[in-house]
Amino acid sequence: MNAQDTTPSSLAPGSSSFDPGMTLEQACHIDLHLHSTASDGRLSPQELMRLCHHRGLSCAALTDHDTIDGVEAAAHEARALGMTLVPGAELSTRWQGVGIHVVAMWHGQAQAPMTALLERLAQARHDRALEIATRLEKAGLDNALERAREQSPGARLLGRPDFARALVAAGLVPDMTRAFKRYLGAGKTGDVKVHWPTLEETLESVRRAGGVAVVAHPLRYGLTRRRLGLLLDEFAALGGEGAELISGYQNDNRSRDLVSLLDKRGLYASLGSDFHYPGGALAPGTLSAAPRSQLLPIWQHPRLAPAFERP
Ligand code: AMP
Ligand code: MN
Ligand code: MN
Ligand code: MN
Repeated sequence: MNAQDTTPSSLAPGSSSFDPGMTLEQACHIDLHLHSTASDGRLSPQELMRLCHHRGLSCAALTDHDTIDGVEAAAHEARALGMTLVPGAELSTRWQGVGIHVVAMWHGQAQAPMTALLERLAQARHDRALEIATRLEKAGLDNALERAREQSPGARLLGRPDFARALVAAGLVPDMTRAFKRYLGAGKTGDVKVHWPTLEETLESVRRAGGVAVVAHPLRYGLTRRRLGLLLDEFAALGGEGAELISGYQNDNRSRDLVSLLDKRGLYASLGSDFHYPGGALAPGTLSAAPRSQLLPIWQHPRLAPAFERP
């Protein structure tokens, strides 16, 4: 049975309530990392909100890659469903040669420094797509840019998944996993990061826009524990507020280790599924449980708390 076909007993449609006083361990009805068709998700913002509601969520953040194009439609739908939508985006950055994702969230409208950053990211994504296309052409994918565009519905900006699907469609690889493994994953020819703003520039923009920034899925960069510590040191020193303690399904031992890494730096904890499409292992609100800790949840951050109030 697919995860999205079941509703965990703790989550029942229509019975959702969000208590800002709840701890991380108690956290339910909440998912602060979700994608829609505004980036590489497969559900429209409205469909996504309806699925969240169906799964008993009372509070969700839309965090599309480098865009807030879906936020207004999602907020509108969420309001109609009696849910809270926290505006956000998953921002592409670079740090020490690694592509690091930063989830930014804020209360109310996106402020000028945020819209300026998003414009810059749109340009970066455009320039990066040209370079990825050139590289994949050298690797044997003719007309790579057009082929990737064929995989991208509407006018949204191209991402690596569009190139991955183009590689599959052209028969160069059997599936998406292999496309990333051979061509687009970390360190491969199509993994182009130079266009992204630095972590420092990104955090400055988020701060000036009145938002809060958390490190997305800290365990998914393949960093050693020491380097992850360095990343979190620098993130905190640059004014970053937190990190995702839980991203989807996660090993309990690693979660406990993350608790101490965050605690040591006074970082808030966030959590989210990183849901992209139905049919996979994940659904909105499917998360491993957070271990017991003294960490503060990001919904209690003074700058962000108003965004979590009931509509
Ligand atoms: P981009 O934001 O354009 O750099 O593309 C990164 C996105 O590609 C991630 O957010 C995932 O949605 C997707 N992705 C990364 N690795 C894989 C993989 N191994 N298989 C399928 N999709 C992946
Ligand atoms: Mn993605
Ligand atoms: Mn990510
Ligand atoms: Mn994501």
